[in-house]
Amino acid sequence: MKLNEVLDELVIKNRPISQYGNVANYIPELDKAQKDALGIFITDITGNKFHAGDWNTKFTIQSISKIVTLMLAILDNGEEYVFSKVGMEPTGDPFNSIVKLETSRGRKPYNPMINAGAIAVSSMIKGKDAREKFERLLDFFKLISEDSTLDVNYKIYCGEAETGNRNRAMGYFLKSEGIIDGNVEDALTVYFKQCSIEVTAETLSKIALFLVNNGKISTGETIIPPRVATIIKTLMVTCGMYDSSGEFAIRVGIPSKSGVGGGILSVVPGKMAIGVYGPSLDEKGNPIAGVALLEDLSKKLNLTIF
Ligand code: GLN
Repeated sequence: MKLNEVLDELVIKNRPISQYGNVANYIPELDKAQKDALGIFITDITGNKFHAGDWNTKFTIQSISKIVTLMLAILDNGEEYVFSKVGMEPTGDPFNSIVKLETSRGRKPYNPMINAGAIAVSSMIKGKDAREKFERLLDFFKLISEDSTLDVNYKIYCGEAETGNRNRAMGYFLKSEGIIDGNVEDALTVYFKQCSIEVTAETLSKIALFLVNNGKISTGETIIPPRVATIIKTLMVTCGMYDSSGEFAIRVGIPSKSGVGGGILSVVPGKMAIGVYGPSLDEKGNPIAGVALLEDLSKKLNLTIF
């Protein structure tokens, strides 16, 4: 059976699972997504492309942006500095949890994949103000995805900026602890904008391919050192699926990062780059049908890295 046929079959099989989840509604506009949308786009290591379902539907990247911002923050500041401000350990708490910020040793966010850690990382992007920082970051997104059309969905950005009081609270706490050095509002602006970048499953597959190739783009140019690609993939395994990362590692076994917009970006080392879209989320905030689809695919093609 050809891979495109396998994907068609798996989308048909898993689409009904969407009914057991819910589309995110805490950010205005996200609830407009079609609940039973499900799509997948795969690029293999030799450049062959395969897709099925709603692979071409646009949605916002949300938390998946955290891995890209982390790459640029490490390029801008070095690994040692970044991880002096943000930890490397999973929390077991929801992605927007505030609880461990005050009680953790060193009072730094546990990891760069939870919102608190990601806001700290966004504050490290170099630039004289929020506009310049975000422009540099968006250019970096365009470079590694090899897609110069990427842009922010401004309706969603405005909704996030208006309603993101919990994220704002974390930002000010991080500032009071000296984790954020510069202007807090600049860090939050960069964070809300990066979350609102509009993508498709194909875009996610392109970013994943950059990691499959250990930080090289298609011209052969190295954009990030292999060491940084390894850090990102490792954090995807331990923290990429929020407080479901352990279960996901057992069920699917592929380094992945999810977002509440419905995306999952998955990197199968040495083999393939996967983008998934399914906006119906489980109670942890992961795409419910998207995870089921990846579980089936992983079993069928034996993709687990473990
Ligand atoms: N913008 C979202 C937030 O900050 C991102 C969260 C996510 O995708 N898990 O809440």
